[in-house]
Amino acid sequence: TSNALLGPVQIRDLAGRLGVRPTKTLGQNFVHDAGTVRKIVRSAGIEAGQHVVEVGPGLGSLTFGLLEAGVTVVAVEIDPVLAAQLPLTVADRAPEWSDRLTVVLQDALTVTELPGPAPTALVANLPYNVAVPVLLTFLERFDSLDRVLVMVQAEVADRLAAPPGNRTYGIPSVKAAWYASARRTSTIGRNVFWPVPNVDSALVLLERRDHPVTRATRERVFEVVDAAFAQRRKMLRGALAELAGSAAAAQQALEAAGVDPTTRGEQLTVDDFARIAEALDDQVA
Ligand code: SAM
Repeated sequence: TSNALLGPVQIRDLAGRLGVRPTKTLGQNFVHDAGTVRKIVRSAGIEAGQHVVEVGPGLGSLTFGLLEAGVTVVAVEIDPVLAAQLPLTVADRAPEWSDRLTVVLQDALTVTELPGPAPTALVANLPYNVAVPVLLTFLERFDSLDRVLVMVQAEVADRLAAPPGNRTYGIPSVKAAWYASARRTSTIGRNVFWPVPNVDSALVLLERRDHPVTRATRERVFEVVDAAFAQRRKMLRGALAELAGSAAAAQQALEAAGVDPTTRGEQLTVDDFARIAEALDDQVA
């Protein structure tokens, strides 16, 4: 451990000097507790020497924790003031860590390439309003990521980790399951943030797994998922009627996929969705 991690005094001081006024639209809530940062890093299960990507480093709270753990970090930040300051903060507090940090000023949703060796882990305290899209985008674009540890709103954590049949099971659960198995590991109280958000957060660990074996494309499977949950209360044969061309065609595809046409999307696994997508494609062909 070191003394470089940012506490309440450093966060306040940095924000003051930069004139940072945290915005809700960018989900700017900064962690000012070194214990929480170290817990996130520990939960990520990373090892020194690994290449890690961080989304939204902000003032650097988590970045310092990652650097302390001996990894190399590429940090993608959308806010130009924060992105410009971060290397300076590291140079100031822990110059010996500077050469392990690269900051990229960009919207994480538009990132298609990252500098340096392929990252094997994503560790981030995600901006709340884009947490799920950022997570799915990174899993899709960077095959090399085999572990993801993110801090998100507790409710979103539940959704990501929910199994079929669960009250919170929905589109994020199925799509995340396409790439990984997700598990909520701990709850983080709102008081470790400045400004204090009005919800608690939780950590989610996603471990990459092979996606379902299917002839259907991922896009097609996700299209079926979106359709099934767009009309959540409908039976599947109704919810998929438009996509299939008619309720009868939907019924037939569901039967071909071995799925009860009267069930609802919330009961199905990602593998079920993959089989349905395949059956729909077979009808067209
Ligand atoms: N990692 C820091 C921490 O733990 O204190 C800050 C986390 S804060 C919840 C989210 C950060 O993501 C902010 O710094 C915000 O500017 C940044 N951000 C928001 N939207 C973004 C996007 N689309 N791409 C990259 N960064 C983004």
